[in-house]
Amino acid sequence: MTVTEIFKSIQGESTYAGLPCAFIRLTGCNLRCHWCDTAYAFYGGRKMTGEEVFQRVEQLGAKLVEFTGGEPLLQEREVVPLSERLLEAGYRVLIETSGERFIGRLPRPVVKVVDVKCPGSGESGSFCVDNLAALERKDQVKFVILDEADYRFAREFLAEHRLGDRVDEVVFSPVFGRLGARPLAEWILRDGLGVRLGLQLHKFIWDPAARGV
Ligand code: SF4
Repeated sequence: MTVTEIFKSIQGESTYAGLPCAFIRLTGCNLRCHWCDTAYAFYGGRKMTGEEVFQRVEQLGAKLVEFTGGEPLLQEREVVPLSERLLEAGYRVLIETSGERFIGRLPRPVVKVVDVKCPGSGESGSFCVDNLAALERKDQVKFVILDEADYRFAREFLAEHRLGDRVDEVVFSPVFGRLGARPLAEWILRDGLGVRLGLQLHKFIWDPAARGV
């Protein structure tokens, strides 16, 4: 598989935020979100075998592991067996995906954190609708929100597809540096939505532009 970086940090997104986590950042993405903060993972990277990645994760010593990118499901053929290996070894495995690829071929215990791209990303409409049926309660759906138009899109998608009945956690997260947490919090409270406000914790701990954290 082609890997941009493997590192240990504090999980910054999802409901696992705050926990030490080994990140496997895979190279390549087929989307181009306007506000993407990991464009450095679009190209390059280093070829590694699944065994090499597994050994590196073992060295890092965190029991939570996340596949991220780029878009990790572009390398599904390698991600599936490595996920199985990590699960067998007792790791909790997460994957952060854009929502454009089908999640249903991943092992069931893998926690899928699935984006739905809002209009402000420039990639609205990329969501694979088959993912709705593949979601399990432990999985999470995430909307990254640039402005109030994105918020309204997310609110309508949430209602139309009854996301609250499909997963335990729906996360609304503001685009860092573009939308404050406060307006988003106030819109959520105003409308009585049962969603979690997600902030990118690692960007408050380290320099928001830092890599490998
Ligand atoms: S899907 Fe993720 S990695 Fe790809 S462009 Fe969008 S934010 Fe960046």
